[in-house]
Amino acid sequence: MKTKRFLSLLLTLAVLTGLCVIPTSAVETEEVATTEIEIFIENEDISEETRAKIIAYYSDPNHENDGIATCGLTCTLFGHKLEDSVVRSVTHKVRSTAPRCLEKTYTYEACTRCDYENSTLLGSSYIFCCS
Ligand SMILES: [Zn+2]
Ligand SMILES: [Zn+2]
Repeated sequence: MKTKRFLSLLLTLAVLTGLCVIPTSAVETEEVATTEIEIFIENEDISEETRAKIIAYYSDPNHENDGIATCGLTCTLFGHKLEDSVVRSVTHKVRSTAPRCLEKTYTYEACTRCDYENSTLLGSSYIFCCS
């Protein structure tokens, strides 16, 4: 009788542990989805508008420059009125072991008159940042 009760207790424990594993892994997946990105704009002289464009551009990891810009007549005739800056982005906790955070450096240019924007990746490296 005693052995049987002991076995059923073990079984209950196994079930409980099994149940506990599922929510834990769910939380881990969520952590990856909400990866934090910090944007550093090196050029202080650019307009607020371009600043906002840069933040929108680099804070979305799925942002792809499709190269399609609605170009106004002025830009077609005289070329773009460009503002440019070196931009650093730090994506936190990309890897599970140190160095965990990924730093990327870009040159970014955008036209203040139309939708044209262009970004070139200069380099990327993992940095010691978050523990
Ligand atoms: Zn333009
Ligand atoms: Zn970090």
